[in-house]
Amino acid sequence: MKYIFVTGGVISSLGKGLTAAALGTLLENRGLKICLQKFDPYLNVDPGTMSPYQHGEVYVLDDGAETDLDLGHYERFTSVQLSRLNNLTSGQVYQTVLDKERRGDYLGKTVQVIPHVTGEIQNRILQLAEASQADVLITEIGGTTGDIEGLPFLEAIREFALDVGPSNVLFIHVTYVPFIKAAGELKTKPTQQSVAKLREIGITPQLIVCRCERPLDKELRQKISLFCNVPFEGVIEEKDVDHSIYEVPLMLQRERMDDLVCQHLHLDCPQPQMAHWQEIIRKMIAPAHRVRVGVVGKYIGLQDAYKSVYEAIIHGGVANDCGVEIVRVDAEDIEREGPEKILKGLGGILIPGGFGERGIEGKIAAARYAREHHVPYLGLCLGMQIATIEFARHVAGLDRAHSAEFDPNTPHPVIAMLDSQLKVTKKGGTMRLGAQPCQLKVGSRAASLYGAFIVKERHRHRYEFNNKYRELLEKKGLVFAGTTPDEKLVELIELPDHPFFIASQFHPEFRSKPHQPHPLFRGFIAAAHHHAHNKPL
Ligand code: GLN
Repeated sequence: MKYIFVTGGVISSLGKGLTAAALGTLLENRGLKICLQKFDPYLNVDPGTMSPYQHGEVYVLDDGAETDLDLGHYERFTSVQLSRLNNLTSGQVYQTVLDKERRGDYLGKTVQVIPHVTGEIQNRILQLAEASQADVLITEIGGTTGDIEGLPFLEAIREFALDVGPSNVLFIHVTYVPFIKAAGELKTKPTQQSVAKLREIGITPQLIVCRCERPLDKELRQKISLFCNVPFEGVIEEKDVDHSIYEVPLMLQRERMDDLVCQHLHLDCPQPQMAHWQEIIRKMIAPAHRVRVGVVGKYIGLQDAYKSVYEAIIHGGVANDCGVEIVRVDAEDIEREGPEKILKGLGGILIPGGFGERGIEGKIAAARYAREHHVPYLGLCLGMQIATIEFARHVAGLDRAHSAEFDPNTPHPVIAMLDSQLKVTKKGGTMRLGAQPCQLKVGSRAASLYGAFIVKERHRHRYEFNNKYRELLEKKGLVFAGTTPDEKLVELIELPDHPFFIASQFHPEFRSKPHQPHPLFRGFIAAAHHHAHNKPL
């Protein structure tokens, strides 16, 4: 078993997760079995209780774990199967240590950061190594070198490297090489200092990945090599991508990063097979078709709040050889200015998941616009609940119909709390979470897109379609095209007299990859293109 640790320096948001995932792509395409893991130094047990402003999207796994969005990159860039073992926070580490202490596992001892906290961190590496049976385990350490809260993780991996021996472990440091306009040049000092900080802790990285806006020239590489104590070829340029994050693996391959990793770890494997990946990039950069679709949400200004949704839309584009321009629409703007002005001209409208009341009426207006103007519509989780409320109000005539989440006194709670949620009092990890089977109706659009009648999709919600309204809404033309196999919960709705109107209670975006675009997104983009150009793809 080989171990790669990825640390980050200078500033956050450098794309360590992307770098780790892209290295995963290259190693996997060399025929190696890989696994990826993220350590997050914050004290929350998981990011499930954090707002998108704090943390961006919460990425949900099959087993229901609510995890860091970097795990989304890991799944999209590779074929790894992730579980709750793949994301560890300081909160989880301390919870485990304190449980053990109360149980008496450490009787007689003083419980300390070293060796007890660090030991727990190492346990998690070993646990995943054992469970994954991978050839290479890539572990990304969240945060930036020098953060106080990250220290136990760095100490843990330093000790771990001693235990497994130098030929089985590789440290990669992702750092920032800023371009200073006034001087007209790239600066290496922050990188030198960040690496010095790591070496103080006892970690010497063998590869330095330099995030930069402009290419690194030879002189700069020599400087970083000299001051950071890495060989010249160990200085890897990772320039901002021109078009797509999926270019990163190809960029790192050009820098021979995977060769260097394999050399260092004594991994004997062929060059990666990247032809299919190149074709994906080709379709992103120079697609045969183009379309604009709107995403109507409330965290529109944030880059990461709807990460998986944006990615899945792009994948849906790849499946149709169609470049997608994503128009981010603030639901509150629709409330202020009306849907016509803002949504006119879009090929499709998508409403993603969400919580809280802000912007809800704007979203309802957007769903109404899509239904009435025959604009392709894809609703995800809250987007399904919105479509239901809209249909109940304007087609079934249920005045003031609403979700009990937003209006507890509505006369028509067409969306109500799941029975299983009624007794739940704690907030963390208690929603209906993870992959659940859904049975699709014969003859439905969803079944024909999936090419299957039973599918498994990931969930994250507390509210659900209220079965008291099933008969009435069905009579009015809403099709309940997907339910749980016992038919108790509605999982997917469709409108038949519409070019494309599908909304799911689950989150299909979490299962989409560039090389395996999700069927619902594939269908949505095809319909959007058809709508925008009034012709089939
Ligand atoms: N707020 C809704 C619920 O809890 C929708 C959740 C979501 O979109 N993820 O049911």
